[in-house]
Amino acid sequence: MNKEHRLPSPIANPENKAFLEAAQNDQLVLKHCNACNQAHYYPRTICPHCGSNDTSWIKSEGLGEIYSYTVMRRGVEVPFAMAYVRLNEGISILTHLTNCDFDAIRVGQKVKVVFQETQDGQKTHLFEPV
Ligand SMILES: [Zn+2]
Repeated sequence: MNKEHRLPSPIANPENKAFLEAAQNDQLVLKHCNACNQAHYYPRTICPHCGSNDTSWIKSEGLGEIYSYTVMRRGVEVPFAMAYVRLNEGISILTHLTNCDFDAIRVGQKVKVVFQETQDGQKTHLFEPV
């Protein structure tokens, strides 16, 4: 079996608790502000766009495209790719890429969310080409 990059485990806090719990059920959720009607990431209680605390969780369809990416090959045990994915909901999410040829990754490439276990067994989001 090929070695795979070991995903770091997210650290839970009151603001990201529902986000991390949704990932255990293979669901990507986002915080949405009811005052300015915009989603944001990383999850926060206070909307970073307008400062309102009237925020709620929405389910993301988990589809988007690569906005920017990097492939780490030097100084790591196993190469891995990270990207900013612009979700169809209009916000960018920092993520690992998986199930892809690192030499074939392109800006604008369509991707979808998948979930894999991290070092300690909890699941986290990654994206793979559609
Ligand atoms: Zn807002």
